[in-house]
Amino acid sequence: MKYDLVIKNGTIVTAGQSYSADIGVIGEQIAVIDQNLHGRAEIDAQGKLVTPGAVDIHVHMEMPIGEIVSSDDFFTGTRAASYGGTTAIVDFVEPDPDESMLEALTNRRAIADPKVTIDYGLHMTIGPVEIDKLDQLPEVYEAGCPSFKLYMAYGFCLSDDELMVAMEAIRDVNGLPVIHTENWAVITALIDRSLSKGRVSPSWHPRCRPAVMEGEAAGRAIDIATLVGSRLHIFHITCEDVVDRLSAARGKGIPVTGETCPQYLFLTQDIYDRPSVEGALPVCSPPIRGKKSQEALWRALGQGNLQIVSTDHCPFTRAEKATGLGDFSKIPGGVPSIEMRFPALYSSGVVPERITPNQWVDICCTTPARIAGFDRKGDIAIGFDADIVIFDPDQRVVLSEETLHEEVDWTPYDGLMIQGWPQVTISRGEVIVEDGVFYGRAGRGQFVSRHF
Ligand SMILES: [Zn+2]
Repeated sequence: MKYDLVIKNGTIVTAGQSYSADIGVIGEQIAVIDQNLHGRAEIDAQGKLVTPGAVDIHVHMEMPIGEIVSSDDFFTGTRAASYGGTTAIVDFVEPDPDESMLEALTNRRAIADPKVTIDYGLHMTIGPVEIDKLDQLPEVYEAGCPSFKLYMAYGFCLSDDELMVAMEAIRDVNGLPVIHTENWAVITALIDRSLSKGRVSPSWHPRCRPAVMEGEAAGRAIDIATLVGSRLHIFHITCEDVVDRLSAARGKGIPVTGETCPQYLFLTQDIYDRPSVEGALPVCSPPIRGKKSQEALWRALGQGNLQIVSTDHCPFTRAEKATGLGDFSKIPGGVPSIEMRFPALYSSGVVPERITPNQWVDICCTTPARIAGFDRKGDIAIGFDADIVIFDPDQRVVLSEETLHEEVDWTPYDGLMIQGWPQVTISRGEVIVEDGVFYGRAGRGQFVSRHF
């Protein structure tokens, strides 16, 4: 027997086409795609879709915010990811002021390496302190970390001139800036005004972070990238204000891409009006918008005006969220979505024909891998890593804290019925989830050195 594993009789769905064929795996890679293959182990995928493992290039495992850390660590978070068919993630490095970027990368890897059950990469954060350390970028790129997170908000917020020099330095190493676009000066003024008037409940959170200023910041980031000749990837787009600027720039050939996230596709702003801690739970930034924005995002995905869906997975517990009930600006931001993303995009994207099956794979697997510089992930092709999902298009799962495996005591998608769910998740040739049973282990995932 030539092949270690053969996946038989399934319908292979890639970003480009759908077709019936068997996949032969040798070791950790896809060796052949052909008819009537046999191997030492065989999985019958009759009636199932066979897709690349999904790629989520925006997640925050055990991320420190002040005194607390996001509640999924690199093990529980990547295990939940694998249940949902995700086989590669990109998390973040946030250097301490006294660390070099390379030291910070080494330290973050020391936390992640023993825990991850799927492969991962890291984006390097460039905050105001790192602006004086931009000469370190070549060695960071060489260490397999070619993408750099820039913020236009929070303590990491860069001024326009800092954005410019950061993007120049990233351009010079052929790296990719990934950016959080909001207008921090306007937001902080609106928050101060709101709190001073006693408007402290979570329903004021979206009102202090208006869509129009997310659009303004995105436009400014695109313009600065255009000025210096840098690529750009815009994170967590919530509204048409950004989509319009993104489409206009791409129409002129400017190399900018954009992502949205499940929370913006499945939830609406009125969720913040729920009483007590229920309104605090979905606080994330930029905030969840109204129905019109949600529909615009789905339309943009269908029309190719938004390139990918990642999660910005960043869970905090009910108790941690409740600490900000007297001041919405103190609520730790972030929601859990890492497990549901890939099946949910099938259920609410492919089933109602908002996107095609091939677009689904493109949006969740192929283009995320390409944007992030994973050169052997995100596609079913010879020589690629055997990261494969056997997807049952008929299985129904009702999302709840009980059915999901994320390490957090709530989900914003409670009660949402999903049609279609991964039956088998394979990572580099190894079955890590089958029929709801987890077979992976902490530390089997690998840091992937990415490049462009
Ligand atoms: Zn994020």
